[in-house]
Amino acid sequence: MGRPLLNRRLDGLGTTIFAEMSALATRTGAINLGQGFPDTDGPDEIREAVVDALRGGFNQYPPGPGHADLREAIAEHRQRFYGHLGGQTYDPDTEVLVTTGATEAIASALLALVEPGDEVIALEPYYDSYAACIAMAGGVRVGVPLRPPTFGLDVAALRAAITPRTRLIMLNTPHNPTGSVLGRDELAEVARLAVEHDLLVVTDEVYEHLVFEGSHIPLASFPGMRERTVTISSSGKTFSFTGWKIGWVCASPELVAAVRTTKQFLTYVSGGPFQPAIARALRLPDEYYAGFLADMRRKRDILADGLEAAGLTVYRPSGTYFITTDITPLGFTDGLDFCRRLPELCGVVAVPEKVFFDDTPEAQEIGRPLVRFAFCKKESVLTEAAERLATLRV
Ligand code: PMP
Ligand code: GLN
Repeated sequence: MGRPLLNRRLDGLGTTIFAEMSALATRTGAINLGQGFPDTDGPDEIREAVVDALRGGFNQYPPGPGHADLREAIAEHRQRFYGHLGGQTYDPDTEVLVTTGATEAIASALLALVEPGDEVIALEPYYDSYAACIAMAGGVRVGVPLRPPTFGLDVAALRAAITPRTRLIMLNTPHNPTGSVLGRDELAEVARLAVEHDLLVVTDEVYEHLVFEGSHIPLASFPGMRERTVTISSSGKTFSFTGWKIGWVCASPELVAAVRTTKQFLTYVSGGPFQPAIARALRLPDEYYAGFLADMRRKRDILADGLEAAGLTVYRPSGTYFITTDITPLGFTDGLDFCRRLPELCGVVAVPEKVFFDDTPEAQEIGRPLVRFAFCKKESVLTEAAERLATLRV
């Protein structure tokens, strides 16, 4: 027992900030605008579809790659929303893999594709599981910072981050936590660099249906990207059933085979009765998707206006259901300290973004005052949270 119990690759990764902040909310009874989960479930008919599946024989292991009907629904969904961009036809049998949420898709992809010592470029701040999975694979994380006020991609910084050791780019658009959405020109640059340097790209697009300005463009639709991109998405955000953990991967047969190899030894399969329900959800009419987006846009504006009125600097997001703010105008400097005290100060929980930045002085300087608030909550809850925050004003 002389050495630390935790594998040293996971040093410093401790408890995820989402678990810490949700536990804090439960303990204090504060309004939880921290972890990103809705306080209202998705459509009743989809919930009922799970009940039918539970009664109808979907209770044993699903097939390794996922139920055939769900894989077909995933391929249809890509055609329906992105077919006009070209290259978005995926073979449900060889190019689609169902996973335990996007989380397992990310883990499987990184563990499959990264060798010890390989460099993995990721947009910083990064969603926390990227750092953990790159570390578990023995890879070296290289951050490309997104800076306020726009949190746009600095293409020169991306170019400068590429070395002969770079194996892949871990992309995320719409981007958690900043809410930025990469535009056509930025994505074209990512694609050009990936092709020029022969890089793989893993792209996390779980917020594909939460784009308020413009529209979501999958990176895999750019020239040369179809065969080198692992596209990841999930039902959790789009259908407001985050606890069901049905995610997926779309990629070439070779990439899917590699990802499947690791996936089969992580969970093998999961979510038997949820899979047919998500197949049905993916086939919901356009009105569902439009209604969901309109509802979230209204919530974004309610919370953004409220946070502004409370005195925070608000970076109104183009996508996701998160708002990034700067707490400096309230007289605070450190987001982690602020978030740990927030329940006692005014009964609200949020997430400090500095934990999604590297532990270097330059990165911490950007991340320190940034705090994320989730707006996937009832309008009355958002209004109440903003009113509570307004009491902090100095
Ligand atoms: N990627 C991003 C960017 C996320 O915000 C989340 C959280 N939903 C995930 C992946 C994980 O998704 P899932 O719950 O489907 O595992
Ligand atoms: N994706 C959610 C968020 O960003 C959290 C999911 C989790 O706790 N892993 O808040």
